[in-house]
Amino acid sequence: MNGATSPSASPQHGLTDRLARWAKGLSGKADDDEGGAEDQRPRAGSAANREVTRRRRLYEEIGDFLFAHDLDLTPINFSVALDYLTGANIGVEKAIKAVLMERGKITNGWIESVAASQNPDEVTPDSLATMLDKVEENLTQFTGLMHESRNSAKDYGAALQEQAKGLAEGGDAEPVLARLVGLTRSMVEKTRLVETQLRENQKQTQALKSSLENARRAAEHDHLTGLPNRRAFEGVLREEVKLAQDNGETLSVAFCDIDHFKHVNDTHGHETGDRVLKFVAGLLAKVSNDHCHVARHGGEEFVMLFRGKTAAETCEAVDAVREDLANRSLVNRTNGERMERVSFSAGVANVLAYDDPRAALKAADRALYLAKEHGRNRVYLAAEAD
Ligand code: GH3
Ligand code: MG
Ligand code: MG
Repeated sequence: MNGATSPSASPQHGLTDRLARWAKGLSGKADDDEGGAEDQRPRAGSAANREVTRRRRLYEEIGDFLFAHDLDLTPINFSVALDYLTGANIGVEKAIKAVLMERGKITNGWIESVAASQNPDEVTPDSLATMLDKVEENLTQFTGLMHESRNSAKDYGAALQEQAKGLAEGGDAEPVLARLVGLTRSMVEKTRLVETQLRENQKQTQALKSSLENARRAAEHDHLTGLPNRRAFEGVLREEVKLAQDNGETLSVAFCDIDHFKHVNDTHGHETGDRVLKFVAGLLAKVSNDHCHVARHGGEEFVMLFRGKTAAETCEAVDAVREDLANRSLVNRTNGERMERVSFSAGVANVLAYDDPRAALKAADRALYLAKEHGRNRVYLAAEAD
C-alpha cells in the first residue's frame, strides 16, 4: 500500500494527480514501476533513499506550515504550501512572502483566492458543484410548480363541476355564481403566481446556461492568448482526422516553438515575454479558418492543423508566418527598447501518413527538434518514413 489515491476523473484530477504522484514518491515506490522487480525498496544510503528522506522532511515542513497558520488539510492548502516550500511556483511564493511580511498570517480563504488567481479560468470543483446544485434546485422547483399547477387546475375543475351541478339543480343562483367568481379569481391568481415563478426559474436557467458555457470555454481556452488549449486541440484533432478520412482530404500538423524564448524572458522580463507570446499567437491565429486550427500547446509552443493542404503546402503556409515574424522589429513596451529578432522554428508532418495521429505529432516534434538543431528560425518537414 503506497498511500497514493487512484487518480479520479473529477475536475480536480489535476491537483489530486499531482498530490498522488507526490505521495507515491514519498512512499519510496519508483514512478515508472516497471519490469516486475520484486523488491524495489530503496537500499539505505541509495539516491532513492535520500530522495525519500528529502520528501519526508518536506512533508513535515508542509505539516508545520499548515499547523502554524491553522490551515485545514485540504488539497488546495497542501498544494499551495508545497509550491511555496519548494519554490515551484514563483507567483505563489511571492504572494505568500508578501503576506508574511505584512501581517504574518495566512488563512484558508486567502489561499483559495491565491489558488484562483494563479489560474483564474480554471473550472474549480466547487464552482461546478455549485452550478450543479443550482440546476438540481431549479429542476426540483420546476417539477413542484408543474405539480402545483396541475393540482390547482384539477381542484378548480372539480369545484366548477360541483357548483355547476348546484346551478342545474335550480337552487339560488346568486351565491353559487359568487362562489364561481371567487373560485375563478383564485385560479387566475394561482396561475399568475405559477407564471411568475416559472419566469424566474427560466431566467435562472438561462444564467446557469451561460455560466456553464463560460466554464466550458474557460476549460478549453488558454487565458493568456485566447487560443484553444491543448485539451481543445486534442478534440479538434480527432474530429479533423475523421473529416479528412471521410472526405478523402489531406491533413497536416505543424508544431511551432519560439526560439530562445527563455532569453526573451531573461532579457525583457516575464511580462514582455507574455506580450510576445500573445503577439505570436495573434500572427498564427490570422491564418486560422474552417480548415486551419491553431492552438497553444503549452509554454511557448503552438500547434496548427491544416485540412486540405499537403504537408509541403503546410510548410509553405507556416514558413510565410515565420518570415513575417522574423522580419518584424518588436519593441519592449515597458522601456521602449527595440528587441532582438523574435522567431520560431517549426516541424510539419502529414497526419494521415501515420497509423495514429499521435505518431504524426511525434514526427512533427522530431522535425521541429531538427529545425532547432540546424540553426532555428526555419520550418522542417518530417520524413514520412520515420
Ligand atoms: P529553444 O529555442 O530551444 O526553444 O529555447 P527556449 O529558450 O525557447 O526554450 P526553453 O524550453 O529553454 O524555454 C522556454 C521558456 O518559455 C521557459 C519558460 O519560462 C517560458 N515560458 C513558458 N510559458 C510561458 C508564459 O506563459 N509566459 C512567459 N513569459 N514565459 C513562458
Ligand atoms: Mg519549447
Ligand atoms: Mg522555445
